[in-house]
Amino acid sequence: MIGLILAINMALVVGGRIPATYYGALNATIGEFEILRKEVALVTPYDEDYQAAKQNFDPTWSYINPLLIIYCRNTLQVSVALNFTTQHQNEICVRSGGHSNTGVSLCTGVVIDVSNLKTIAYDGTQFTITLGAGVNFGELVKFLNTTKRLAPIGGCPTVSVTGFTLGGGYGQLARRHGMGCDSLLAATMVTAKGTTVIANAVTNSDLLWALKGAGNGNFGIVTEIVMNTYHWPNDTVGYQILWSLKEEGVAVLLAWQKLCANSTEGLQLTISPPLDGSPIPGPLLVLQALTFTNTTEESVINEFLKIGTPSVTRKYFEPGNLDFDYLGYGQNIPQEAREFKMSGYVNVGLDKGQIEAIVQFFLDRPSTYNNLYLEAYGGDINKFASNATSFCHRSELYNLVIESFWINEDERKAALSWISDYYSLLLPMLSDQAYQNYPFFQISNYTRAYFGDNYSKLRAIKSKWDPPSGKYPDGFFHARQGIKPARGN
Ligand SMILES: Cc1cc2nc3c(=O)[nH]c(=O)nc-3n(C[C@H](O)[C@H](O)[C@H](O)COP(=O)(O)OP(=O)(O)OC[C@H]3O[C@@H](n4cnc5c(N)ncnc54)[C@H](O)[C@@H]3O)c2cc1C
Repeated sequence: MIGLILAINMALVVGGRIPATYYGALNATIGEFEILRKEVALVTPYDEDYQAAKQNFDPTWSYINPLLIIYCRNTLQVSVALNFTTQHQNEICVRSGGHSNTGVSLCTGVVIDVSNLKTIAYDGTQFTITLGAGVNFGELVKFLNTTKRLAPIGGCPTVSVTGFTLGGGYGQLARRHGMGCDSLLAATMVTAKGTTVIANAVTNSDLLWALKGAGNGNFGIVTEIVMNTYHWPNDTVGYQILWSLKEEGVAVLLAWQKLCANSTEGLQLTISPPLDGSPIPGPLLVLQALTFTNTTEESVINEFLKIGTPSVTRKYFEPGNLDFDYLGYGQNIPQEAREFKMSGYVNVGLDKGQIEAIVQFFLDRPSTYNNLYLEAYGGDINKFASNATSFCHRSELYNLVIESFWINEDERKAALSWISDYYSLLLPMLSDQAYQNYPFFQISNYTRAYFGDNYSKLRAIKSKWDPPSGKYPDGFFHARQGIKPARGN
């Protein structure tokens, strides 16, 4: 009831005058607020565009009502925003692409939004790209097409490249070129004090190490990243191979897992609802690969084609012609659907009985909109030691992710109960680690799961770059499941 009254009051004042109490909630005077407004773009709950401005990718989080959203266009503006929020002791959160699985880029305090930092440049002598924090994968792929170079690419066009990279960054080229963070050469970051720092292999290398896997919302606001790019072979080819999960799922999964375990090869597998226009009735098992012709990887794919009666699409991507529609998972999930996912790593191959149980549980799903996907590790991901970067998951076979979507309340209950039961079934099959870019609050011991043995070093780096102070015992950047500073002992 109170929520309803608040909502009606809010609706009445939208587009109207900001009440004096609003500034009190910000701990600022009208004068201070107006000075800020001259320097950065602001959206308050009293502005017409507030509802749109607070919308993240997943509508699950639309109940979170920020006090203020500050849109920055460059590093200097981020510094202005941080000076304001630290001076007035506001709670803050940081948003680039708005794809957080736990909604932590929204908060009831101040959202500092860097999605308008869209600069993008290619250095043809060093073969590097420099990207503003707001550049997303749709924009990156378009740009890479002009440079005819490849770079780490995630599966969704609207995820921010920076948000992806700071939490690791898995994509279809990960086994070939490592996680996104392995291609991160340098970052520009603004600290809570508004100071701009550069982190690279020579300067502030401790910070660069930390940003490679633990950079999301922990140390400061990253405004720009520099990434390696890679040669784009003429024979780049994308595969999409579909099987019926019910008829051929167990055989394909067993073969896929064996290839992950016994060789450096391994390809991404997705179990998904029927795709639009799919020649095979769902649920489907989809094998996707971005590879190069006449490589061992392609010979592995040929082995898969011998299993059952798959439907195969093969598409060449000559340099400069990458197609995002192919890179995505091709799901037909309604845009208004809300999402929940849980995941964990598998580091010891599962037996036939376990695979059968996984397939059967999926087949018994309560609604159409569910996915299970298996992201193969190994290759260049696992060539690094687990302490080479703060991203520590370097000896896993694959990441197993379950995902459910819903639209109405009844579907929500069924989806959450299904996914939680599924996770209970899977838990004994998983290692004690989980991928921090797919976070969920129900995980036990998140520090161990996301950061492994790197956590104590991360705590020391946190103390240096975002130390505890007065109102902020966990540092100014202290989102749930964040890194806690070392306490000096
Ligand atoms: C549909 C979908 C597809 C995805 N596909 C992939 C995939 O293929 N591979 C993969 O590895 N991951 C994938 N992810 C996960 C994604 O990489 C993470 O959720 C990532 O953190 C999103 O970054 P963002 O900036 O878009 O999200 P946001 O919600 O804006 O931010 C996510 C987190 O990063 C922090 N953050 C954001 N920007 C900054 C910044 N500039 N400086 C410091 N902290 C910051 C936020 O505070 C928050 O904690 C996917 C997620 C979704 C929802």
